[in-house]
Amino acid sequence: MTLRGPRYGIRFRDDVEPNERARVTGASPLPHAPPTGDDMPFSHDMVCSLAAVADLVNTAPETGGPDGLTGVDDLEAYVRRHELSGVENVAPADLDQVRALRTTFQEVFGAPDSPTAVTRLNVLLERTRITARLTEHDGYPLHVHYFAPGASVAEHLAAECGVALAHLLVEGEWERLRTCAAPDCEKVFVDESRNRSRVYCDSRTCGNRMHVAAYRARRRM
Ligand SMILES: [Zn+2]
Ligand SMILES: [Zn+2]
Repeated sequence: MTLRGPRYGIRFRDDVEPNERARVTGASPLPHAPPTGDDMPFSHDMVCSLAAVADLVNTAPETGGPDGLTGVDDLEAYVRRHELSGVENVAPADLDQVRALRTTFQEVFGAPDSPTAVTRLNVLLERTRITARLTEHDGYPLHVHYFAPGASVAEHLAAECGVALAHLLVEGEWERLRTCAAPDCEKVFVDESRNRSRVYCDSRTCGNRMHVAAYRARRRM
């Protein structure tokens, strides 16, 4: 399965100016006013949840590379990496559930358009227990948790990441969910840049690699 939606098929260099990009694509330049303040108009916990869901999808072998979620220790490392609060320990059953959830999120990320993403996300939200609760913990300012008391890792991720993706859709920011533009990489990421200009999953790896390839191609001409 491919995770690349058709509207993200156009590839640009990182350094193409947004208005130049708009000229090339015929899109209106900078269709939305750039958000004031932070680069991304979302709260800290939403950004964290979006990073967690992208990281989860990127453990799938379909995104390139080996399966990054084959053992309980992989899941433990993931939980630690994203500081999932309220998760005490993980068991083999959790691994199975999170792997199944990963497939669901892959389908959401891989949706060809926003209405399809809405339909696919609603299927997940309908079967997820969600409990909104205001909380302050570990030095973070007051924010809302959505996972139900006693939620498993998979339920936790379904609630937190599901709601974060829902907000992304509500805000009309669906296009920030991207697949890496490097031809041999299918990693997904959430573009947090002000002008939605990010095209590679990681500027140090894929971005750098593609720049080097473009440089070599120019030298051969
Ligand atoms: Zn929290
Ligand atoms: Zn990449």
